[in-house]
Amino acid sequence: MKMAAAGAAGVSLAGCGLFGGKGKKNLPKAYKVDGSARMALSWEPYELQLRHTFTVSSYSRSTTPDVQVRIDYDGFTGYGEASMPPYLGHTVESVCESLSRIDLAKFSDPFQIEDILAYIDSLGGIAPPAKAAVDIALHDLYGKLLAQPLWRIWGLNPAKTPHTTFTIGIDTPEVVREKTKEAAGKFSILKVKVGQSPEKDHAMIEAVRSVTDVPLAVDANQGWADKFDALGEIYWLQDHGVVMVEQPMPKNRIQDTAWLRERVDLPIFADESVQGVKDIARLRGAFDGINIKLMKCGGLAEARKMIAVARSYGMKVMLGCMTETSCAVTAAAQISPGVDFADLDGNLLISNDRFRGVTLDRNGRLILPDGPGLGLELV
Ligand code: MG
Repeated sequence: MKMAAAGAAGVSLAGCGLFGGKGKKNLPKAYKVDGSARMALSWEPYELQLRHTFTVSSYSRSTTPDVQVRIDYDGFTGYGEASMPPYLGHTVESVCESLSRIDLAKFSDPFQIEDILAYIDSLGGIAPPAKAAVDIALHDLYGKLLAQPLWRIWGLNPAKTPHTTFTIGIDTPEVVREKTKEAAGKFSILKVKVGQSPEKDHAMIEAVRSVTDVPLAVDANQGWADKFDALGEIYWLQDHGVVMVEQPMPKNRIQDTAWLRERVDLPIFADESVQGVKDIARLRGAFDGINIKLMKCGGLAEARKMIAVARSYGMKVMLGCMTETSCAVTAAAQISPGVDFADLDGNLLISNDRFRGVTLDRNGRLILPDGPGLGLELV
């Protein structure tokens, strides 16, 4: 404003000192794309071994199918990952088929991520986890070429990462108590899977409460089909130290969820009801926030747009994950500063992690690695 006023008054800017003098340091050399190198995409199936059999309201399992991805470019390597929990309907075969249709050799400039992702969308029918794997590897490569971690490139403050929840799956009260004891003292918030009958849900919560009094998030995974039952459950949960409820009702029951939201104080988050940025507008008024997962939405580029759109509607944001290695979990953690909740424990649930990336402090707060790109180390 002052400069505009000065200009308008005909005062010369030359003598004001703003543009005089040169920076004392030479600019560091950034990677220069000269058009001669090409990206090479490769992948391999990798079955994730779960530490404990994992049960939610609709199924249980002890492994998760996964595909590890890399992009090589002029001596640099970007890592990515597709994780396919069975309930999403994608398989190793469908993801590998999608990856085989993506020809990154068409592109000579790995910085043009928006163009590359638009090309992937234009192919039609690409499985979202396959797109997420390529998006994650592209962003890892991008940060490595710029020699900076993604959080820094995006101007995010690593001191503002949230505490992650640690998930306690559905099980008998004895096992729930054991798992809670293992987690107690390491996390300042736990997430409990509910959505069965009130009796079973109450037994789960009471088993957790017999061990710890930390705040609880609950995830019903669409398990409450009746809105009156859901209302009664949320009142009960509120009295037992629960601080948020995820996906209480089936994913398309938006109006019933809005009815519910008008009657409860706890924030209600959408998970199964939201996949990408296009779904957020119809959730306004029914949900307080959205759960963003890279495997659902197709990667970091879409996830960042989702955060911006959700914030513009005054909605809260949580970041979730599947059971994944530290590759995809660390990718999600890169955008975690400032979100309201993080549920980024997928790497802690497996026994064959290939990477070291995001870590946790003593209370379960996410600590971002300082290395370029995702900041991963192979283990
Ligand atoms: Mg969920």
